[in-house]
Formats: sequence, structure tokens, C-alpha cells
Amino acid sequence: RLRLAHSALFAGGSLVRDVVVVHDLTREHRTERLKADFIATVSHELRTPLTPIIGYLGLLRTRGDRMPAQKRQDCLDLIADRAAHMSRLVEDLLLASRIGDADDDLGLHVSVGTHDLTAIVRQVADDLDTSRIKIDVPGHPVPVVCDEGRTLQVLTNLIGNALKYSPSTEDVRVRLRVDADRVHVDVSDHGRGIPADQLEKVFEKFHRVEDPMTMSTSGTGLGLFIARRLAQAMGGDIAVTSTLNVGSVFTLTLRHAGRPVSGADRTPVAA
Ligand code: ADP
Repeated sequence: RLRLAHSALFAGGSLVRDVVVVHDLTREHRTERLKADFIATVSHELRTPLTPIIGYLGLLRTRGDRMPAQKRQDCLDLIADRAAHMSRLVEDLLLASRIGDADDDLGLHVSVGTHDLTAIVRQVADDLDTSRIKIDVPGHPVPVVCDEGRTLQVLTNLIGNALKYSPSTEDVRVRLRVDADRVHVDVSDHGRGIPADQLEKVFEKFHRVEDPMTMSTSGTGLGLFIARRLAQAMGGDIAVTSTLNVGSVFTLTLRHAGRPVSGADRTPVAA
């Protein structure tokens, strides 16, 4: 939809300037709708962990001294867990607001060094603590060029998504592959897959696939946007392949430490 605004400038009785301004209302409405959707999503995502925090704090304040020690500890653990979740959410929002849409990594503080990727994969699987994750990594260390904390964050996002977007009866496979000068971590699930026309879009800020399964799952659509930018800032990348109703494979690629990078795809790494 377009809105036209017309103005004319006369001097000495004759027309000297005639200006027509065309406003693209469709675009303005879309931006307004995106803003409203964004506020609704973020409010919902923050309220979800906040509700049990307020509830359990109330319980502790009114009945805390009469509670068995174990029950009190469980309440405190739950509050700490939900508060940590909120803190990660706020971190994501701040990080996403610092990363522009251009290909810059100004807001990303990555500090690369050499780390064993097999240990990082094992730690993510341990932290997520579910028997659904099946890891397949070499028995020896595989050194890569990365920021350890950021790699944990990226893999937690990829494996967390694989668990979230597939039935709870299905396993998620995490496999580490080494090729000439790169190391790949394939995270495969037997979920509902991603439509071909959205495979690249899922890496855009706030993009969530509009289907009932995604909409019934909590999320902001920021995870993959941040994850890919972090991988790229470490000199790597994330790719995806997917088949509807069969499953998806997200692959994190990082540089093998100590092996020379082959000619064409030499990528400078921000330290
Ligand atoms: P969030 O999970 O918070 O929505 P992400 O940026 O991590 O945000 O993912 C963006 C979207 O990509 C998700 O909303 C979902 O629609 C889709 N997606 C991500 N991972 C998977 C997966 N393993 N299987 C199916 N869809 C996925």
C-alpha cells in the first residue's frame, strides 16, 4: 500500500518545484508488526522463567523455615536454574543488538586459542544431561582454533535445538569429523525438518519457522543468528541440510589447529 503526499512551491505566480512523496505503507506496517511481535516474544520468554521464580520465592518466604531441608534446597536450585536461563536470554538480546545486519563482528568478543574439541563436545553433552544425546568423537584430542566458551555456547544452541525440535523419544547424534584442515561437528536429529525455502532464513535475526511445533516451543529466533556469527568470528561457519519429516543436520566447522589452511578459503581470525 502506498500513500502519496504532494507539495508545490510557487514563486511569482509560477510553479518552481513540484514534490511528490510516496510512502510505502506496507513496509511501515511490516516494521510496526515486527516490533510488536518482538516485544510480545521477548516479554513471553522473560515471563516464562520469572513465574516460577516469583512463585518459589513466595513459598520460601512464607513457609521456608518449616520446610524439610531437601525441599528448600530443591526450591533454591530451581530458582537458580530459571534465573540463569533469564540471564542467558538477556545476554542473547544484548549480543544480538550489538551485531549489526552487516557482516561485521564488532559486538562479538571472541578470543581464539587452541582447544580440544572432543572435550568441548563432551562437556556440552554432560551439561545438557540427557540420555538422548549420542556422541561419536575420536578417543584422542582434536585441537581446533576457537574461543572455548563461545564454542560451548554454539554447540549448546545446536544440540539444544535438535532436542527441542524433535520428539522426546528420538536420539540426537553428535559426530566429530576431521578433514584436511577443518574439523566438523554434525548435529543430527530425527525431527520434523526445515522447509527448503527457510534453510538460510533460520540464521536471520528473530526468524522462527511458522509451524505449530515451533510456535508451541519457547524461543526467540536469536540462537542461530548469534551462533553463526560467533562461528564466523572464529574463522569457521555453520551449515544446515534438512529433509521435511525426516530430520536436520546442523554442521559447525572450525579450523584444525596446527594444520595449514589450504589456499582459497584462508579466513582471517579476529583475536
Ligand atoms: P529459537 O529456537 O529460539 O526459535 P533459533 O535461532 O535457535 O531460535 O532457531 C530459529 C528457528 O529455526 C527455530 O525457531 C526453528 O523454527 C528452526 N530450527 C532450528 N533448529 C531446528 C532443528 N534442529 N529442527 C527443526 N527446526 C529447527
